[in-house]
Amino acid sequence: MYQPFDDIAKTPIEYLKGVGPSRGDLLRTELGITNFGKLLFHFPFRYVDRSRFYTIAEVPSALGEIQIKGVLTRIEEVKGKNRKRLVGRFTDGRQSIELVWFRSVAAIKSILKPGTEYVIFGKPQSYQGNWSIVHPEMEAVEDTKAHEQSSMQPVYHSTEKLVQKGLNGRAIGRLVQSLLPKFKGTIPENLPADIIEQYRFISREQAIFNLHFPKDDVMIRRARFRIAFEEFFFVQLGMVRQKQINKTKIRGHRVESVGEWFNRFYKDHLPFELTNAQKRVVKEIRRDMGSGAQMNRLLQGDVGSGKTMVALLSMLLALDNGLQSCLMAPTEILARQHYLGLQEFLEPMGLEIALLTGSTPKKERVSLFEKLENGSLPFIVGTHALLEDKVKFQNLGLAVIDEQHRFGVAQRSKLWAKNQVPPHVLVMTATPIPRTLAMSLYGDLDVSVIDELPPGRKPIETKHYFESKRLAVNGFLKQQIAEGRQVYIVYPLIEESAKQDYMDLMSGFESIQRTFPEPEYMVSVVHGRLPADEKEREMRAFAEGRTNIMVATTVIEVGVNVPNASVMVIESAERFGLSQLHQLRGRVGRGASQSYCLLMTGYKLGEEARTRMETMVRTNDGFEISEVDLRLRGPGEMTGTRQSGVVQFRVADLVKDAKLLVEARAAAIRLLEKDEALTQHEQVRIFFLREYGKKQAWGRIS
Ligand code: ADP
Ligand code: MG
Repeated sequence: MYQPFDDIAKTPIEYLKGVGPSRGDLLRTELGITNFGKLLFHFPFRYVDRSRFYTIAEVPSALGEIQIKGVLTRIEEVKGKNRKRLVGRFTDGRQSIELVWFRSVAAIKSILKPGTEYVIFGKPQSYQGNWSIVHPEMEAVEDTKAHEQSSMQPVYHSTEKLVQKGLNGRAIGRLVQSLLPKFKGTIPENLPADIIEQYRFISREQAIFNLHFPKDDVMIRRARFRIAFEEFFFVQLGMVRQKQINKTKIRGHRVESVGEWFNRFYKDHLPFELTNAQKRVVKEIRRDMGSGAQMNRLLQGDVGSGKTMVALLSMLLALDNGLQSCLMAPTEILARQHYLGLQEFLEPMGLEIALLTGSTPKKERVSLFEKLENGSLPFIVGTHALLEDKVKFQNLGLAVIDEQHRFGVAQRSKLWAKNQVPPHVLVMTATPIPRTLAMSLYGDLDVSVIDELPPGRKPIETKHYFESKRLAVNGFLKQQIAEGRQVYIVYPLIEESAKQDYMDLMSGFESIQRTFPEPEYMVSVVHGRLPADEKEREMRAFAEGRTNIMVATTVIEVGVNVPNASVMVIESAERFGLSQLHQLRGRVGRGASQSYCLLMTGYKLGEEARTRMETMVRTNDGFEISEVDLRLRGPGEMTGTRQSGVVQFRVADLVKDAKLLVEARAAAIRLLEKDEALTQHEQVRIFFLREYGKKQAWGRIS
């Protein structure tokens, strides 16, 4: 369908008045603004109230850019060490402030006239107690009367390079100002009329125009509301649609019968009663796997909630139906742990399970590949190595993916390609994701939640200590060890400072050895630089209770299971993110005894770090923690998807607009229920395919 909007939007940016080839190139490389359409959606990141005038007396308390009305009393060139600058005096009748220009000195001097009344605009800064404004914008009061000053003025992002080319945020604003008339009357509506009516949305064009040049702050709100809604709406439309397609169009292995293996295990080998939450989730998985469509399920459950058992039962279900299963973990250590843990259950039943990682010897690999391909091996646990092309299954029925957020969507889609009929996919995460984030990241998945810990667990007591309490903490550790408990002491490992962190760990290790000398105390150490077999040895020594203390970097962050360990000491806890802290804490509290998490930090804590410590001390609830985490870090950081564009919105904010997201999803569901293929909503469909169509290719597996 022809739309004049498209022609205008596609016009290369250099054709805009005031741009030209060289600025055009810069706009392209610096801000990705290649054409008129891109500039149209380059929204201001905030607004300044130009109806408000400051007095110079208020300058020290002002934040950001302000405007002042007054008279330029004097202006002169001053010779500095290597270049001239222009210095002016500006007074509001009571006090005065200095104005400074470093660039275009001669030109500016020739324009400005002392004795004239101006409105100046800029950000005051203080140097050795004197306030000044560098490169203020100046407009003669006389001239301001010529145009209406709308109260809210947009502030646009620019970059250093653009500023050098004369394109600061204000100049970009002027470009937008000359752009908008070209689009007037052409911007097509993209939401169905009933939704517009229901939410009393302003038109799309009105919203876009008002985001740039709002009539007032009410209009800013209405414009944001509308654009944020549609951003959510179209992403959800894709996800809900994908979910429909998964359910109805993508055939899956029909895993119908609960057979011998599942029942035998349940009756004779299950060492405990499943929690109600586990039972419910197993039921959900059985229903999915038996439906004839492919399962795409996200299993969320706090650390220690017993997700592995759910995975195992699902794998047995697959086996009962003649299908193979794989479990994929993000690290070698975790894969090994899962392998050993599952083997413990499977071996007594005479079932074989194998491990495949980067360090699996070649000979073993070859025989593994063979068994997978001829179907004689029912279960395999592994790392990314499972994704290699050489790994072929005879009949892969279930792929369990642990700690999903470390696997890229593209990687998961490789598993998909391993079969004619796609395997059922169960994604397990111990990092609870706030509902809104889950919705926007995994809106095409079904979600199960294990919201109940196995019985008999006492809530972990968390305390925050400064370095000065070190002696008391050591005393406490000795007391716990005397009672037969074991202790983790964890040091941070952040990639960029790996060497320093390694040294910190080793010097910490030495001081721990002095405080806890052999043979009374035995200390293990595990870090990324140890060869795999030594790591393994140290872990095993700790797991089997032969050592009292495990000193480690975050390699133990996920998965490791030592029920007798009752204390988790986290060194330099301020350097860890909330979800990491929560994961680490989850390593203790797995046995019957009271467990503790001790957060050690320096005295100087930023506000955010303090919030993290307080949150940890206050609650054990992973979902509550994830909400705080989302607020502190924002969605991109939290999911590691900042680059991938999955959760990038121009206006919408997953934290602030959480309610709107829920609304948008509901609206998308309602629309697709009425009109599955959007045949009666031509505009919606066209817009969707154009703007979001390509990304949906990934939707199949995630
Ligand atoms: P997650 O992977 O969810 O962090 P795990 O599956 O590792 O948790 O389980 C944590 C521990 O709890 C394991 O030792 C496991 O055997 C045990 N466990 C799991 N389910 C139950 C249950 N229903 N009752 C008692 N213990 C359980
Ligand atoms: Mg686990």
